[in-house]
Amino acid sequence: MKVKQWRFGLLTTLLMLIMVVSGCGSRSLATKNILKEDQKTQAITWGVKADTRLFGLMDVKDNQIKGFEIDLAKALTKEMLGKNGQAKFIQVNSQTRMPLLKNGNIDAIIATMTITPEREKQVDFSRSYFDAGQAILVKNGSPIKNVADLNQKKATVLGVVGSNSVQTIKKFAPKAKLMQLSDYSQALTALKSGQGDALTTDNGILYGMAAENPGYSVVGGTFTKEPYGVAVNKNQTDFRNAVNVALTKIEKSGDYNRLLKKWFGHVKGFNYKEVQR
Ligand code: GLU
Repeated sequence: MKVKQWRFGLLTTLLMLIMVVSGCGSRSLATKNILKEDQKTQAITWGVKADTRLFGLMDVKDNQIKGFEIDLAKALTKEMLGKNGQAKFIQVNSQTRMPLLKNGNIDAIIATMTITPEREKQVDFSRSYFDAGQAILVKNGSPIKNVADLNQKKATVLGVVGSNSVQTIKKFAPKAKLMQLSDYSQALTALKSGQGDALTTDNGILYGMAAENPGYSVVGGTFTKEPYGVAVNKNQTDFRNAVNVALTKIEKSGDYNRLLKKWFGHVKGFNYKEVQR
């Protein structure tokens, strides 16, 4: 009898082992080494913004997404995979980036995403590749001059679902009314149509909007620190480390500063030299 029980136990263990090795559902994703797979296919699939001027914006003329993060992702890809390495891009927004990464649709997120302790519970981050800070955008001549005015005047502030900006603004302006839109183009449209008194997110994103809409300005300076990181799934330490090594090379070669100058050098009000490396 005892022998039979022992055999049954062994059989169950073996069956479980086969299930794990053959890969069932999310387990297969967790055991994959994304860096090794990408080295084989010579391609990295990045989740990028396509609604955010200066960082990642779809150019309808040639159907290409363009911006600082796109160029940086291309440079990182070449460092990580060699000169034949190809960067592939999938559009994400503040709301969809995390689920798309978790489901394995993308290898990494490079999409204006701040490294925060809450997010670090779900994903791993590279070290910061851009130093942003939260600010507000208003119509020129607006009585709102800074975040304190938003609070005092109980103004309506617009933000985007899935951004940490909407959480942060509740702390800085608890009396303001918050309206959340699904992406930045919708939030800007809402501001322009007078549905809100201000739009809040990171300064770099807001400067991109102001550059295209001269009737609007970034006011009051930044009131938080928003270091952007490349996010990868937990257990993808090889990939994360490779991003960090590649980033250091790009910074040391001067390419990082060249990209900063290309995208932010002519942006009125934004001193790109402050964020140079
Ligand atoms: N950096 C902020 C965030 O990670 C705001 C920008 C965005 O929505 O992507 O949430």
